[in-house]
Amino acid sequence: MREREINKPMRNSRQRAAILEVLKSTKSHPTADWIYEKVREKIPNISLGTVYRNLAVLKEMGKIMELKCGEKCSRYDGNPENHYHFICVNCGQVFDVEGVEVNKKIDQEVSEKNRWEVFHHCMEFYGLCSECSKKNV
Ligand SMILES: [Zn+2]
Ligand SMILES: [Zn+2]
Repeated sequence: MREREINKPMRNSRQRAAILEVLKSTKSHPTADWIYEKVREKIPNISLGTVYRNLAVLKEMGKIMELKCGEKCSRYDGNPENHYHFICVNCGQVFDVEGVEVNKKIDQEVSEKNRWEVFHHCMEFYGLCSECSKKNV
């Protein structure tokens, strides 16, 4: 028992590093299940629960972002800087919006007009990605 406790921080940090690496290596904003499958290639005995726990810790540390898309699923983003997302309503892919800066003025405006302290805002755009709009035409 004691030995297990000593080994735990080491094992945890190795698992966490592997999860972060998987997430940083993709721009697909994957689900925890996808991350789990990838991490298992490196650490076969890792559990889905461990992946969820580490994702929560990484989020808490500000190293990753969690995107809520509906009630059921969460997706994860290896880029913790605020940026906008585009979600394709047909194929469900999540993209980073390119070429548009996060509007910091809006935070100030909301703050001033409502006397709230605004930290940040999230913005998601919905529509068809270029692949899907090609198919639909
Ligand atoms: Zn699409
Ligand atoms: Zn993103």
